[in-house]
Amino acid sequence: MLDTDFFRRWMAATAAAVEREAERLTGLDSAIGDADHGSNMRRGFGTVTAVLESESPATPGAVLVLAGRQLISTVGGASGPLYGTLLRRTGKALGESGEVSQGQLAEAFGAGVAAVARLGGAKAGDKTMLDALLPASRALADSAGAARDAARAGALGTVPLRARKGRASCLGEGSVGHQDPGAASAALLMEALAEAAGE
Ligand code: ADP
Ligand code: MG
Ligand code: MG
Repeated sequence: MLDTDFFRRWMAATAAAVEREAERLTGLDSAIGDADHGSNMRRGFGTVTAVLESESPATPGAVLVLAGRQLISTVGGASGPLYGTLLRRTGKALGESGEVSQGQLAEAFGAGVAAVARLGGAKAGDKTMLDALLPASRALADSAGAARDAARAGALGTVPLRARKGRASCLGEGSVGHQDPGAASAALLMEALAEAAGE
């Protein structure tokens, strides 16, 4: 079973990963966006860590709802509302129990990813974070490690795609040949999940 501390470790590991990789994320965003994805993610998850420490939410669902709300209110770019919705919706779907199973997490995460797709109107192949999140969500039914591997593969798979959503879509053909920054950060989120799970 996954307890509240597991979810705190997931968020802390994500904050550490985006801090470590912020320059790479911003570099990816400078090629096909406005060069702020690393700083957006770093600022957002930095405040997530701080608010989780000050408010000490008591359940897995409450950890993710608070983290999501924090991202929505602190990140101005597209990624704030999208990641905020992912975590908030996943947290709501987890309900109020103090521990959840791997299967419950997989199902709740699926609901979170579906909410991201509804909010942003993107689908698989549009060269967005969904190209990492959708395969990760399916693989999470197996394990966190499988979700991490699927997200990494999905992020690398955005390189040859043409962007159809977000800022990069303005470049049209010019977006081809570059990895999507949001797909790269989604892979970090799943790496952090696997790390929290000890996989
Ligand atoms: P902004 O584009 O506002 O500067 P960020 O740079 O923080 O925001 O995030 C950009 C990332 O957000 C993109 O790489 C993409 O993965 C994701 N994104 C943008 N628009 C959408 C959308 N409509 N649906 C899903 N993801 C999106
Ligand atoms: Mg940007
Ligand atoms: Mg921006």
